Amino acid sequence: MNDCLFCKIIAGDIPSLKVYEDDHVFAFMDIAPLTKGHTLLIPKTHCKDLFEMPEDVARNLYAAAPKVANAIKAAFNPVGMNTINNNGAAAGQTVFHYHLHLVPRYDETDGLVVEWNSRQQDFQADVLTNLSEQIKAQL
Ligand code: 5GP
Ligand code: ZN
Repeated sequence: MNDCLFCKIIAGDIPSLKVYEDDHVFAFMDIAPLTKGHTLLIPKTHCKDLFEMPEDVARNLYAAAPKVANAIKAAFNPVGMNTINNNGAAAGQTVFHYHLHLVPRYDETDGLVVEWNSRQQDFQADVLTNLSEQIKAQL
C-alpha cells in the first residue's frame, strides 16, 4: 500500500532495525519500546488489521511468531512475554498495517502495565451462553 508506514519499512524506504525476514513476514524493533527487546512482527502482505487478514497470511505470520519470540527469549532471558495486537483506533491501533507486538517481560516495573478488570458478575452463565450462540451464528 502506497502510503503505509510499515509497507515502506518492509520495502526499505524507511529504515528500521530488522531482526528477521522470510518470504511472508518481517520483524523489527519497535521505535518506542515498552520493554527491552520489544519487537513488531508484521505480514508482508498489507492488511489493515485482524479482521482483514486472509487465512494464509495469518498462518504464515503465526508460523514465524515462535521463532522470533524464542530469539528474544534467548537474547534477553525474560521471565515472560505479552503478545499484543490492537485492532482499530478505539483499541489503541495507531499504525494501520497489522502488527503483533512481542513484548518480553522482566518484572512488574519493566514498563508495561496490563490491567485486567474482570466483569464476571455482568456475565452470568445464561448471558454467556446467549453470547456464544450469537458468535456461532456468524461462523
Ligand atoms: P499500535 O499502537 O498501532 O498497536 O502500535 C504501533 C507501534 O508502532 C508503536 O508501538 C510505535 O512505537 C511503533 N512505530 C510507529 N512508527 C514506527 C516507526 O517508524 N518505526 C518503528 N520501528 N516503529 C514504529
Ligand atoms: Zn502496509
